[in-house]
Amino acid sequence: MPDQKSAPEQGAHMAAARREALLSQISEMSRRAGQSDAPTTIAVSKTFAADRIRPVLETGHIDFGENRVQEAADKWQALKEDFPHVRLHLIGPLQSNKTGQAMALFDAIHSLDRPKLARAIAAERDRTGHCPALFIQVNLGDEPQKAGVTTAELPALLALSRDTLGLPVVGLMCLPPATAVPAPYFAKLNNLATAHDVAHLSMGMSGDYKQAIEQGATHIRLGTAFFGQRS
Ligand SMILES: *Cc1c(COP(=O)(O)O)cnc(C)c1O
Repeated sequence: MPDQKSAPEQGAHMAAARREALLSQISEMSRRAGQSDAPTTIAVSKTFAADRIRPVLETGHIDFGENRVQEAADKWQALKEDFPHVRLHLIGPLQSNKTGQAMALFDAIHSLDRPKLARAIAAERDRTGHCPALFIQVNLGDEPQKAGVTTAELPALLALSRDTLGLPVVGLMCLPPATAVPAPYFAKLNNLATAHDVAHLSMGMSGDYKQAIEQGATHIRLGTAFFGQRS
């Protein structure tokens, strides 16, 4: 058949079509919500192998999210050589002993959540002269199993990170409780960001990004909506 495409070509074509449809839907949602700019869409590639990520990179997509440092290092060291302009976002918890590795690989860390980690990041920044953009993760639902500072702990962590250590805290991040109506949590994160003069809001996943956009998300983190179901 004359128009038969090879598997990689077909993958690239599907990735491009899917991304284009998703991004145009996001910009329409954003316009309707009265936001002046569409949010940055982070394609969450956790669990997907490099051969699934490559076609998305070929569309020109820039922002990708991973939740594990080691998995990200294994996949992205090679991918970054071919796509050096990519921006990687760490969206999962960070152990202090992986700070150096994470800071070398990621352009943004969305999971700053404790003083010990802020100090480890600052020490590494002093050593290398380099620091990714940082988001403080807030555990708005006070869920014991979830990472993040409580709302009560936020001012102290901000003061330590931003004022004392001089770290580039650019935003707040949250994951609302899985079974809750998310909009009030997103609104609360927005209020906290305003109250503390923090510019960016990392909130909204495949199931709730519309609500997050309505509440002013600047970074949405989309896994399944971008890549399909994870196995
Ligand atoms: C996996 C993950 C996402 C993406 O989840 P989807 O529901 O697949 O969009 C977003 N944020 C965090 C912190 C995640 O771990």
